[in-house]
Amino acid sequence: MSIERAAERLARAEHVLVVTGAGISAESGIPTFRGEGGLWRGLHAQDLATPEAFRRNPRLVWDWYRWRRGVCNEAEPNPGHQALAELERRAPDFLLLTQNVDGLHPRAGSQRLAELHGCIDQARCTICGAITHLDELQDGDDGLPSCSCGGLARPHILWFGEAYWEGTLDVGYAFAARADLVLVVGTSGMVWAPAAVADQARRAGAFMVDVNPNPSELSDAADLWLRGPSGVVLPELIRRAWS
Ligand SMILES: [Zn+2]
Repeated sequence: MSIERAAERLARAEHVLVVTGAGISAESGIPTFRGEGGLWRGLHAQDLATPEAFRRNPRLVWDWYRWRRGVCNEAEPNPGHQALAELERRAPDFLLLTQNVDGLHPRAGSQRLAELHGCIDQARCTICGAITHLDELQDGDDGLPSCSCGGLARPHILWFGEAYWEGTLDVGYAFAARADLVLVVGTSGMVWAPAAVADQARRAGAFMVDVNPNPSELSDAADLWLRGPSGVVLPELIRRAWS
């Protein structure tokens, strides 16, 4: 069975790279804000998650992110998130790259983690660049989160049309060069950078396992495809690897 082969590989892997996408969040009930039906006050994410939208109407953009943050904070990490935190404790060398901004990985206990698209709980100053947890920011006179330097803070989220922050992907590519196993979870394609890092690891010789309920470009490229939701497949995979 595929899961037994994957478990055997995982148990002897020394450098484990994990890449997660929206699928693992969906299992916790987080909607894909960019997807179909992702309207808020009649607006699409593409109308809100851009630097232009923030310049035009920062209050509208913050209202949307405050609403989204509420949705994310009410959700709970699922057994897939918890299994990845457990894997981090067992693997000799480990890195988790995620495109998810909902904060569910850190809440599940993941620490060796790069949130490549930012985090819904953080803000970044538009003047000095300081990154601060939203709970530690005061609102300015305009009712919008304000940095201690007095600058307007924006959501610390990678928006449409923005490049990755400097150095963000470097840590992923450096790890990809030494990874001997790469686990791709809940992603649907290679169009986004974290999946490209996973593919780089595969090209460099890592054994690639895709965990996904539906076939994707990545399942075709992977050495093994474990079909199913991550909340079912990952706990079973780890149980078999260390039983
Ligand atoms: Zn500042």
